[in-house]
Amino acid sequence: MNQIKQARLTRRRSKPASRKIEQMISDIIFRHVKDLVFIMEVEAGYRFRYLFANENGLHHAGMLAADIGKTMEEVLPPYVSVPLQKHYIKAVNTGKEVVFHDEISLENDLLVHGETRLSPIMDEEGIVQYVVAVTRDITETMIEKHRLIESEQRYRSLVDHNLDAVFSIDLKGKILDVNPAAQLMTGYTVKQLKTKKITSLVCESDLPLFHTVLADTKVGNAKESLDCRFMDRKGKFLTVHLKTIPVVIHSEIKGMYIILRDLSEQAKSTELIKYMAFHDQLTGLRNRRALLEHLDDLVKNKKKHDSEFALLFIDIDRFKYLNDTLGHLVGDQILKQVAERLVEIQKENCTVYRQGGDEFVIVLEDTGRQIAGEFAQKVLSRFNDSFYFNSQEYYITPSIGISLYPNDGKDAETLIKNADEALYSVKEKGKAHYQFYRTEMNATGVNVITLEAHLRKAIERNELELYYQPQIDLATKEITSFEALLRWNNSELGFISPAEFIPLAEDTGLIIPIGNWVIDKACRQIKEWTEKADKPIRIAVNISPKQFLQIDLVRIIKNSIEQYSIDPSLLEIEITEGAMQDTKETIPILKKLKDLGIKISVDDFGTGYSSLSYLKQFPIDVLKIDQSFIRDIKYNGKDAAIITTIIHLGKSLGMEVIAEGVEEQGQVDFLVGVDCEKAQGYYFARPLKVRDAEEQFILN
Ligand code: C2E
Ligand code: MG
Ligand code: MG
Repeated sequence: MNQIKQARLTRRRSKPASRKIEQMISDIIFRHVKDLVFIMEVEAGYRFRYLFANENGLHHAGMLAADIGKTMEEVLPPYVSVPLQKHYIKAVNTGKEVVFHDEISLENDLLVHGETRLSPIMDEEGIVQYVVAVTRDITETMIEKHRLIESEQRYRSLVDHNLDAVFSIDLKGKILDVNPAAQLMTGYTVKQLKTKKITSLVCESDLPLFHTVLADTKVGNAKESLDCRFMDRKGKFLTVHLKTIPVVIHSEIKGMYIILRDLSEQAKSTELIKYMAFHDQLTGLRNRRALLEHLDDLVKNKKKHDSEFALLFIDIDRFKYLNDTLGHLVGDQILKQVAERLVEIQKENCTVYRQGGDEFVIVLEDTGRQIAGEFAQKVLSRFNDSFYFNSQEYYITPSIGISLYPNDGKDAETLIKNADEALYSVKEKGKAHYQFYRTEMNATGVNVITLEAHLRKAIERNELELYYQPQIDLATKEITSFEALLRWNNSELGFISPAEFIPLAEDTGLIIPIGNWVIDKACRQIKEWTEKADKPIRIAVNISPKQFLQIDLVRIIKNSIEQYSIDPSLLEIEITEGAMQDTKETIPILKKLKDLGIKISVDDFGTGYSSLSYLKQFPIDVLKIDQSFIRDIKYNGKDAAIITTIIHLGKSLGMEVIAEGVEEQGQVDFLVGVDCEKAQGYYFARPLKVRDAEEQFILN
């Protein structure tokens, strides 16, 4: 303790002015002031004696009027007086005003916040004689202050914990404050950012746009933009979603908030969606969509660079059979493992796709015929090793058709179609092999004389074969009928399309022996399958116009039916509209055929002789809607309308309607929707060899 001050305090002084002061205080303050007012006399040993307390003071301190004149220690309990005296001592010692806050609890448990000011009053010698204490109820102010603190904290939480970068800027664009996300996004520290203008972070080319956004915000409009790019500390472009908010204080715009959302996260999910759109979920390989895009790109580029590429169309032999007998789960396993093997042999500039189902495509860039052949061989040999599913060993083989750019097609669609065509011919020849597409596959290029010479010997050389394409009952999904389609595989000329040799056979009259052979084979097949399936199986054979007008036709059919003793209604003959033009000749023949009990269908309905009147006159059982109508169902409303009409018409005449050339699910959906009875097409199955058709559709 300061000895001098102690000495001073012990000297009691006469106080001529004290009365006056006392009077003044009590007059002015006593009545008017709501604050608690105490006047304490300072005594030696830091004792403080109550000289005065106003009513509020007495009341709040729980004092009586009689307490005036007593010391603080005498009036207040120690837990109140001790801390209080400390403040008083400080005021005495420093001679300066002391302000402190405390909480006073009232009788009703309400907490009141008080702010007390202790004003020391000194005599002429500078010795503190009195201390005037004024305590003000600041509860309201405190509540307001807490509210402000809380709202400030709420605001800070919004800003500081925001994953978006938030910049607070003034009207000139100077950065005043930023949140942690802003540091993270830009790579600058808060300090560095606070020395910058926001415009220094904007990508130069986007500055004009940014200025427009700012100008708009300055006049009070919140804005957003996706086109404004920012830059981080390293100069890397940031793709962001920009939002600006004006800071309005007392109706005046004082600044702006700039909020940036990093879109790279979003970009990631966009990437994922894109990945899913271009990849097959089962195998993880790129899908058909990716293939088409890639091919389009290649074709565009190759046009410039003039180089070749090869497309390998791969199909798993007998997959449908495996899938049906082993179940779809194993089917999926097969596809996955096949995909893995194909990926294993991938090399540079080689991409594997899953085209759909059990079909895969490999694109080999900068590859000519020879390398493509070698690669196909490699694919085949990769399948020499057996596969294992559920600890069972299986041998799985692929067949491969190859088309080469630009010789076999100059666009994606043609290349795929031609590779598929080549693949198909591999399948016909016995599978597990590869073949290049040859333009001859469409047109033999062989002269007609040679062709005819070969065709004459086709039957005896056993070069003809009937393939069977199933017809699906769209309501029950059952298969009880097939169309027999002729195949000619000549040892020298290879596979020749019926579209090519049938007209020649007609011209040369060879259609008669060939046609008879077909009828014989089909009747035998009806017999065999009806027995094997233990249910009636109907087979349709195509009868060409010349053949139809052949007098012998009725007799030949009758013979075959009798020879195999089959139910005549299981044999169906398909005749084109063209063959029926001459009604005088047609009607008696049809009647005779009908009398045999066989079914008669109109093939390629809608393409030929377009008068519908004959439908009523002819004893027709089945209408086969030509594939050209089916192909464009999706795009051509007219085709869709024609199909619907044909179906209605057929039904009203009591005929069965079969849609041909169904290749896609969408077409199936449409046909089901318009109540079409049956459908036939690649979507369900291609024309199949007897054994394959049997495995897939007769024996199960
Ligand atoms: P068609 O009677 O209209 O036979 C249908 C044709 O369409 C067949 O061609 C078949 O393979 C094909 N096809 C089946 N489903 C689809 C599909 O979903 N999309 C596409 N684009 N085509 C599909 P194919 O076997 O080349 O036969 C062509 C034509 O040759 C036949 O047309 C038929 O008129 C004639 N033909 C076939 N076999 C014989 C026969 O034994 N005798 C006679 N006289 N003609 C036959
Ligand atoms: Mg047909
Ligand atoms: Mg047809």
